[in-house]
Amino acid sequence: MNQKISLLLVPGHSGIFWNEKADSLAKQVTESTPFIDWIASEDIISNLKKQSIQITHDNYRKSKYQALIGNVPDILTISKWTGNRVQDRLIARIISKTIITPGLLHRFNLHPDPLCIVCNEINDISHILLKCKKYASFRAILWNKLNIVESNITYDVLLSHHALTNKNHLTIFIQALKYFDVF
Ligand SMILES: [Zn+2]
Repeated sequence: MNQKISLLLVPGHSGIFWNEKADSLAKQVTESTPFIDWIASEDIISNLKKQSIQITHDNYRKSKYQALIGNVPDILTISKWTGNRVQDRLIARIISKTIITPGLLHRFNLHPDPLCIVCNEINDISHILLKCKKYASFRAILWNKLNIVESNITYDVLLSHHALTNKNHLTIFIQALKYFDVF
């Protein structure tokens, strides 16, 4: 463990404080029950991890984002399905609607026109994936692969009921994004 260990000879029962302390503790143990509840550090760590994930879930369920985004799988689940960090980041941006689009750039005065030139609607990620006429043919193919039969679905239904439900759907979704000019 890369620890430097020195061994020192300590004379016993000669009034050295910490030696006497260790001696009395050792006696207490042998005089009490031999069954001590040892908890392995690995168990403590995995328990804390479980707890912190639970707290994160609970916080999310109580937050305004729950209503906005729905019950998407958490990033720990998704990252088991994605191939790499680039895909993790892409999906996180899709979920939080912070993927770079003219509509988003315009909100920060970085793009002159927030409207889609084909449809004259705000050109954000929701428009691109769900509505934009420019991508109608690619959308039909993607909807078919994701078994989407409803004609009008919302952004959170697309994500939480279809695109992010399992590894297979996620892979199909990520591969399709480039046809929607989303990277
Ligand atoms: Zn459009």
